[in-house]
This record gives sequence, C-alpha cells and structure tokens, in this order.
Amino acid sequence: MSQNVSALLYIVSGVLFIMALRGLSHPTTSRQGNLYGMIGMGLAVLTTLVGHPPAGVGAWALIILGLAIGGGAGAVIAKRVPMTAMPQLVAAFHSLVGLAAVAGAAATLYAPQAVGILENGHIHKESLFEMALGVAIGAITFTGSVIAFAKLDGRMSGKPIMLPQRHAINIALGIALVVLIAIFIGTESKAIFWLIVLLSFALGGLLIIPIGGADMPVVVSMLNSYSGWAAAGIGFTLGNLALIITGALVGSSGAILSYIMCKAMNRSFFSVILGGFGGDAAAGPAGAVETRPVKQGSADDAAYIMKNAERVIIVPGYGMAVAQAQHSLREMVDMLKKEGVDVKYAIHPVAGRMPGHMNVLLAEANVPYDEVFELEDINGEFPQADVAFVIGANDVTNPAAKTDKASPIYGMPILDVEKAKTVLFIKRGMGSGYAGVENEVFFRDNTMMLFGDAKKVVDSILKNL
Ligand code: NAP
Repeated sequence: MSQNVSALLYIVSGVLFIMALRGLSHPTTSRQGNLYGMIGMGLAVLTTLVGHPPAGVGAWALIILGLAIGGGAGAVIAKRVPMTAMPQLVAAFHSLVGLAAVAGAAATLYAPQAVGILENGHIHKESLFEMALGVAIGAITFTGSVIAFAKLDGRMSGKPIMLPQRHAINIALGIALVVLIAIFIGTESKAIFWLIVLLSFALGGLLIIPIGGADMPVVVSMLNSYSGWAAAGIGFTLGNLALIITGALVGSSGAILSYIMCKAMNRSFFSVILGGFGGDAAAGPAGAVETRPVKQGSADDAAYIMKNAERVIIVPGYGMAVAQAQHSLREMVDMLKKEGVDVKYAIHPVAGRMPGHMNVLLAEANVPYDEVFELEDINGEFPQADVAFVIGANDVTNPAAKTDKASPIYGMPILDVEKAKTVLFIKRGMGSGYAGVENEVFFRDNTMMLFGDAKKVVDSILKNL
C-alpha cells in the first residue's frame, strides 16, 4: 500500500473518530457513535497491518494472539461490568494506555531502524524528545490510573493521603525528570530512558495519592487526557498519522471533560490536582446528623402525595444507579402520567459518578428525552412543583452549596428541590453523599424521608399507586 493511500485511510479513520465523539454526545446517537468509533479503529488497525506487514509468520501470530487476548478480555469485561463500576473500569483501561505508550517508546528505542528514525547510526533528536515525553506521560498515566482505580474500587481508602512535603517532592521529581529528558536526548542512553520511566511511575502515584475520592472522576478524565497526549507523542516518533489524530482527540476531549466537571462542581482544576477534597468529612456521616429528628413516610404516603400532585420533578442521583432503580422509576412515572400528573426529570451535571451517568441510565429505561431537563433549564420550576422526588441524590440538592462558605461544595450549582411544596427523599439511611457533608433538606418541614433501597421503595410505591 502506498504512503498516500495509507495516509488517506488514516484520515478517514480520524473522521470516523470525530463522528464517534459527536455521536457519543447525545443518548439518541450514542450507539451509532460507538459504531463509528469501532469502524474507525478497525480501519486504522488494518491500514497499519497492510501498510507495514509484520515480518514473518511468527510476528503475524503474535499480533493475532494479542488482538484475540486483548479483544476477548475487553469484550468479557465490558459485558460483565455493572454501570456503577464504570469509572474504575475506565481508570483501569487508561492504565493500559499508559503502559502501551511506555512499551511503544521502549520498542522504538531498541529497534529504531524499524521505524526509520536513524541518521548516521543515531536516532533523530526530535524523535528522542517525543519518545522521552511520551514515555514520561505514559508512565505517569499508568501508576496514576492504577491508584485512581484502587480508590474508586474501594481497594484503597478514598481519603486523600497527605504525604509530608508532597509538593516539594513532586516539584523535585518534576525537575529531575526534565534534566533526565535533556540528558537522554543528548546521550540516547537506555539506562537514562529506564530512569525516566521509574521516576515517572513514582510521580504518577505521588500525584494521585493525595487526591480524595470525590475528585477521582476529574482525575480519571485528566489521566485520559494525558494518555492521549502520550499516544500522540509516540505517534510522531512512529510517523503514524492515526496515532497522532487519535491521541490528540483523546487528549483534548479529556481536557475539556475535566474542565466541564470542575466547572459543574465550581472547583478550580488546580485545586483538584493539589488534592485534599473529600477528606475527613467524606469518611462518613457527620455525628450530628443521626441525632436530629426527621419526618419519615411510607411508600403509601408517597403514592398518595404524588397521585394528588399536579407537577412532580424527579431528581435522580448516584443511589439510583447503585439500586438500578431506573426501570421501576419509569414504570412509576408512566402510572403517574396516566393519572394526569405532569412529570419531568431534572439532571444535575455531576449527579452520579461520571458525566452523563443519569442520562445513560434513564435512556436505558426508555425515558423519553423530552422529559429530561438540564439543571439550568428546570431549576426555575421547583417553586411551582408539588413534589420534588429525590431518588438516591444528595450532594446535588444540598443548599449549603449556596449559603455555607465553609462547605467543601460551596459554589457548586444546586437543584433547588427545597423550593418544591413537598420533597420526597429516597435513601437507605442518614448517610452523607460523596462530598461527605450533611444535607439540611432532610430536616426541613416540607421534607419526607422514604428510607430503603431506591428500587425496593419505588416498587412498593408502584404497588400503592
Ligand atoms: P451523592 O451525593 O453521592 O449521594 C448519593 C446518595 O445515594 C447517598 O447519600 C446514599 O445515601 C444514597 N444511596 C446509595 N445507595 C443507595 C441505594 N441503593 N438506594 C437508595 N439510596 C442510595 O450523589 P449525587 O447527589 O448524585 O452527587 C454526586 C456526587 O459525586 C457529587 O458530590 C459530585 O460532585 C460527585 N462527583 C460526580 C462526578 C460526575 O461526573 N458525576 C464527578 C466528580 C464528582 P444512603 O447511604 O443513606 O443510602
């Protein structure tokens, strides 16, 4: 295959990736977006294999074995993973992207003749620079993602671990890395290359350990961005257009996503990176919460209140995802609509544990898209609503974000559920949300707590309707 043809095919796969991102931006088109992405990746892999055919049967066998093992494992894991474990799965997969960047750079360093980056027996300086940068970012992504996975999966405490002098240590490591990269470019030394890898592994872990669980989704998206830039760097070294395009797309979309999440939580990107949020308070519910009385209701009460309401706004959150209550919820809403109740869903941009989490679950339960509203489009309607039905959400409804400057969620935009005539709150107990802060709405006169697993409570409301 001529270089022009393979460049053209790589550009076609790049366009397919862009169409995939576009498709994934809305639930109605996301399946199609996924399909474009798969076709694009298939085309890119085929173009590489045909354009640079592996030398010999052994190499072909290795590639096919790799595809079968990787593809097989990916398919099985994706089929089995529950929606609630998606953030840690993404973190685990990013660690592999980081490791792939390290392996790619090492392979290039040990066999530079294979990718044509040699001149007079030496590797081009710019290739050495790309290699060093790609391997450093890849190694940081690897250990950072492993820590993010361990925290999100509960294998490691979600609490920020404040190492003494951590900023000084990180800065020293950063400076040492820059010096080593400069020496590597000058000397082409393999030992220095591996030192860069080791130092970057350490830096990745040290950067992520102090960051609390509540900020992990932002970190995962940031690491996603890093892994993209690492891939793009290696793409330059290998002269592979597809890798450069894909890496840049992943790098920029990850960075934009981190920015959107920070904005929705009203946190600066740097305060996330410097760590500390979701600390002691996130360890558990505040002691005072348990002692104050709350008004408790039954499924029967909830059914009665909602049947007699004119307008109900549903506010789903992380607990709905845990309980997988979305299907029962839709059935409940169908019943209410039959009774002539006007029902809408209000989605907070960071409800759940990843952007779009609630939209995906509601789409899975076939909730019509025109009933689902973003925060800014529906917040003004709570004062006219008879019922705000909060199902497994907590932080995203906490008015302390508007009033309490000392609260870790201060400044985050909030769904004004307390302005509805009645607030029905489904949760299992008085536990706090991810940010670990108390929610005043539980104790208000117009609030009725419905304790229990979200799915079970909705199912019994359904029976009572
Ligand atoms: P949340 O504040 O974490 O609260 C979820 C509530 O669900 C908990 O209080 C829990 O209370 C309840 N719950 C858990 N399992 C349940 C079950 N099986 N049945 C019923 N209730 C259950 O959730 P949120 O309001 O969705 O807020 C999201 C949080 O994640 C925010 O702090 C946000 O900043 C953070 N975050 C989200 C993203 C994102 O992209 N979405 C990114 C970064 C950070 P009980 O234990 O009492 O049941």
